[in-house]
Amino acid sequence: MFNYLIIGSGFAGSVIAERIAKVLNEKVLIIEKRNHIGGNCYDYRNEYNIVIHKYGPHLFHTNNKAVFDYLSQFTDWNIYHHRVLAFVDGKKMPIPFNFNSLYCVFPPSFANKLEEKLLSHFNYNDKVPILELKKIDDKDLQFLAQYIYDKIFVNYTSKQWGKKPEEIDPEVTARVPVFIGRDDRYFNDKYQAIPAEGYSKIFERMLNHQNIKILLNTDFKEVINIDFENKKIYFLGQEFKGKLIFTGMIDELFHFKYGYLPYRSLDLRFESLEKEWFQEAATVNYPNDFDFTRITEFKHIHPINVDRTTILKEYPQNYEVGKNEPYYPMFTKEAQAMYNKYFEYSKQFTNLILVGRLAEYKYYDMDDVVERALEVFNKEVASER
Ligand code: UDP
Repeated sequence: MFNYLIIGSGFAGSVIAERIAKVLNEKVLIIEKRNHIGGNCYDYRNEYNIVIHKYGPHLFHTNNKAVFDYLSQFTDWNIYHHRVLAFVDGKKMPIPFNFNSLYCVFPPSFANKLEEKLLSHFNYNDKVPILELKKIDDKDLQFLAQYIYDKIFVNYTSKQWGKKPEEIDPEVTARVPVFIGRDDRYFNDKYQAIPAEGYSKIFERMLNHQNIKILLNTDFKEVINIDFENKKIYFLGQEFKGKLIFTGMIDELFHFKYGYLPYRSLDLRFESLEKEWFQEAATVNYPNDFDFTRITEFKHIHPINVDRTTILKEYPQNYEVGKNEPYYPMFTKEAQAMYNKYFEYSKQFTNLILVGRLAEYKYYDMDDVVERALEVFNKEVASER
């Protein structure tokens, strides 16, 4: 009945399902383990009418007009610029570390000297990863780099990943570069916005199509079997000859045959407080204090006039199969080498397509995954009909 099966209804699975249904006018079945669609972007209104991101804060930002236009078919947007402060030595300063942060931390004359030195080495508005700034051969800038490394990166990274910044892919800490300028928004992208009615509505509208059927509360292992010997896929006991688009954990798909890929997870602890506001920005990072990495207060993201507020503390932990959620792939050389083995093996299954953060073991942001799903649809699904 279905030529297309999709495992997972996050952005990867939902974008491809929407395209198959609408552009190809073909039937598609989505199999979703949870009791809701939307993957980790799922949001809902809690008892105080505050919009909560159930799986941690999701802030949409992109420079990709095609991605923004594509999603705009399914939602209106509220303009929203995410701002983050870091709590360091009893004070709060803007993150990414920028010229405003310099003046929060150092006496004006020294901050001014550092600003001039930064401008003599870099261009205004440059973004400099902390591990790059540490390499600059200048006594004052070395002092500054060491300060930022010690106070903002090393302990946060050790909480988040259980590793030092040097032990993980430099791209990870480069996501939050030192900013040579005064823009203290967390992102600089051209399009930054929050879906006016939340992310869940986007998924509802994307998947509301007569060609799309959704099976919730169903682990893929209940309906899919892998014939390792003949490299075939079985669906409900029958050989499946259509395309299987898999967005889950690649190691689980192949029964962990090359070992367990490491993921980081989070213990997400929500608290509702009997006060109107808790903090002055949507997110405050705590690199050096407490066991959580950051606190997000949702009312800043979806403003609402109620006398309560709901906050979220994120406590990083290792992923354990069946116990918590695999939020982040780990960016070590060993993990990447194991992933490559799985990926090479997957190529023998000619009707299998892997897409998304878990299946591709990549630190995709929401816009990256939408872009990737559109690309996979065009190159690997639509073109092969
Ligand atoms: N990071 C840090 N201190 C901060 C913010 C970020 O050390 O105050 C590092 C840390 O290693 C983190 C990475 O930068 O994992 C990327 O941060 P981002 O906020 O992009 O992480 P996400 O929102 O995806 O969890």
